[in-house]
Amino acid sequence: MLEELKLTVCKYNKALITHGLVTMTSGNVSGRDPETGYVVIKPSGVSFECLEPGDMSVVDLEGNIIEGQYKPSVDTPTHLYVYRHMSAVNSVIHTHSNYATAFAALGKPIPVYLTAMADEFGGAIPVSAYARIGGEEIGQEIVARIGTSPAILMKNHGVFTIGPSVQSAFKAAVMLEDIAKTVHLALQIGEPDIIPDEEVARAHRRYTEKYGQ
Ligand SMILES: [Zn+2]
Repeated sequence: MLEELKLTVCKYNKALITHGLVTMTSGNVSGRDPETGYVVIKPSGVSFECLEPGDMSVVDLEGNIIEGQYKPSVDTPTHLYVYRHMSAVNSVIHTHSNYATAFAALGKPIPVYLTAMADEFGGAIPVSAYARIGGEEIGQEIVARIGTSPAILMKNHGVFTIGPSVQSAFKAAVMLEDIAKTVHLALQIGEPDIIPDEEVARAHRRYTEKYGQ
């Protein structure tokens, strides 16, 4: 079942490694099938290199296993909480990417210092309160604090991104790490100016309406 979504979710789980966003078995990608409502997610503790599309776990929104020989990721309750409360979200991605997670470790949001942030995220990257792994606390923090951003820093933990598709949530994860690295470098040599809110809104509108083919 859901062969195409399994293929996509498997491919982007592996892409977390090739893009340097995770190490060993940390991090995970899931995707929701809008028709059945089922969620395809990485199995727990299986190394990214060995992942095959057929290894993906399929669960319903309550966490019941529909298909799959492995236990789903320990972060599954987080993903499912987000899907149950945000109907437009069809993908959730979790990483511990280093530069973004450094801001998460400090509990610091990332203000809009770069036009790329205005374009891609349309605002500052928010940060959550500390939340325990395993239950629904992380999901509650994401839903309460992510606002219109496609990405949030989980305090003392890492990164969660969301999107209408796996591709869009993945792009947010890659772009977030890129801007976090640049902002970190900028903060080593000075104090950058924050781009004013109205300019951020203008740039974001232009980018989302006019950029690309
Ligand atoms: Zn984690």
